Amino acid sequence: MELIGQEIYDFTSKCFPLNRYLMGDGVRKTFQYIKEILPELSVYEVPSGTKAFDWTVPDEWVIRDAFIENTSGKKIVDFRENNLHVMAYSEPVNAWLSKEELAKFVFWDEGNPDAIPYVASYYMPRIGMCMSKRQWDMLDDDKYHICIDCEKVKGSLTYGEIVYQGEMEDEILFHSVVCHPSLANDELSGVTLATYLAREVGRMQKRRFTYRFVFAPETIGAIVYISSHLAQLKMNVKAGYILSCEGDNGAYSYLPSITGQTLADRAACAVLNSLHPNYKSYSFLERGSDERQYNAPGIDIPVCLVCRSKAGTFPEYHTSSDNMNFVSPEGFAGSFDVFTDIIKLLEHNQRYKTAVMCEPHLTRYGLYSDLTKSGNKNPFKRVVDFLAYADGTRDLIEIMDILKMDVHEACDIIRKLSTHHLITIVRDSHD
Ligand code: ZN
Repeated sequence: MELIGQEIYDFTSKCFPLNRYLMGDGVRKTFQYIKEILPELSVYEVPSGTKAFDWTVPDEWVIRDAFIENTSGKKIVDFRENNLHVMAYSEPVNAWLSKEELAKFVFWDEGNPDAIPYVASYYMPRIGMCMSKRQWDMLDDDKYHICIDCEKVKGSLTYGEIVYQGEMEDEILFHSVVCHPSLANDELSGVTLATYLAREVGRMQKRRFTYRFVFAPETIGAIVYISSHLAQLKMNVKAGYILSCEGDNGAYSYLPSITGQTLADRAACAVLNSLHPNYKSYSFLERGSDERQYNAPGIDIPVCLVCRSKAGTFPEYHTSSDNMNFVSPEGFAGSFDVFTDIIKLLEHNQRYKTAVMCEPHLTRYGLYSDLTKSGNKNPFKRVVDFLAYADGTRDLIEIMDILKMDVHEACDIIRKLSTHHLITIVRDSHD
C-alpha cells in the first residue's frame, strides 16, 4: 500500500505546477499526463458558447505573463514563480499605480498571512493579483507596475472519461475535478487518486458493476457532462463518489448524498465504520463540490463524498500552503485503501441465503473450531453468525453492520461458505 501512495504522490507532483484553470492548455496537459497511466481515457472538447442547462461554456483564458514590479524594476510578485499570483480568468491590465490604487486589485488572506490565496473570477470580469498578507504589508509607498498579459479566446472545455464494462449495466461513478492550478489537496489529489483507482479497476479480472470515471472542470464541467449523459446516468448509476481532498493526513470525512440513504452512502459508511470509526460526518448542507450538481432535483444521481480533510475546513485550503508538503504518500495510500474497500464491498454486496436448514454441520467442511473459545473473535462463531443473518432478505452491508464485520472478513467467510455450497446468492431483477 505504501508503494501505491508514493506512486500517486509522485504523479501529483508532476501535475502540480501546470497552469490548470477552468479550461485551456494546462487542463489539456493534465489529461496528457493522465493518459500516460490510462491510455484508454477518452478526452472530449466542448466548444465555448455551448449551452448546458442554465449555463454556457465560457471562453478559454490564455495567460502569458503576470507580475507587479517596483520603480527599481524588481519584480515583487511573478506569476512564473507561482501561478497562484494571478487571479484565474483576470482581465488584462498594464498600468503604474500607487500602493493605495494597487490595493484594489490585490488579494491576500488575512487568516493565513504567509500564504498566497487562490482567487478565481470565471464568470465576472475582474482584475486581480494575489500575494501573501505579509508581503503586502512590507511594500513601501512606491509606484508599482501591474501587468497581466492575458486574453479570453473562443476555445473549448476539456473533459475526460473512461468506462470499464462489467457484467451488469449498473454503474459505479467516480467524478473528480480538473481545474485548480498549483493546489495539491483541493482538487488535484482527487484527480490523481481517481487515475490510480481507475487503473486498479481496469486490472480487476472480474467486474460485476460497470465503472465510470469522469474528470471535468468544477461546476460547468459537471453540468456539461450531466446534461449530455443524463438519461444514461439516471438509469445506470447505482452509487457515485466525488473525489477531492484525498491526499492529506487529516481525519477521514464523509458528506452524504441528499437522502443519505443510497447505496453510495451505505457502502461508504460501512467501510469507514470498520477502517476509520472516528471519521467526521458532515451534513449535505456543508457540500461544496460537484455533489451539488449530481444531487440536484430532477438529476437525483446517488453521489456522496468521502475524503480526508474536507474542502474549506483546513487553513491551507485555497492557498499556496495547499502544496506538495501538505499531501503525503501515506495520505494517498489511506484514501486508496478506503476506495478499494468500497469497490470490494460493492462487488460483493448481494443478498446471501443459507443453503441448509438449521446450522450446517461445519466440522464436515473443516470450518469448525473450538466453540468454547467463544467470544466475537472466534472464527467459527463468526461463520455461524453470518449464516444466522443470511436469510436472503439482508444484503451484505446490512449483515456487516449487525456483526461489526469489515469487508475483508465478510469476503473471506463468503468465499469459504461458497466453496462448500453453504450459501446461495439471491438474484432479483436488479442483478
Ligand atoms: Zn477548490
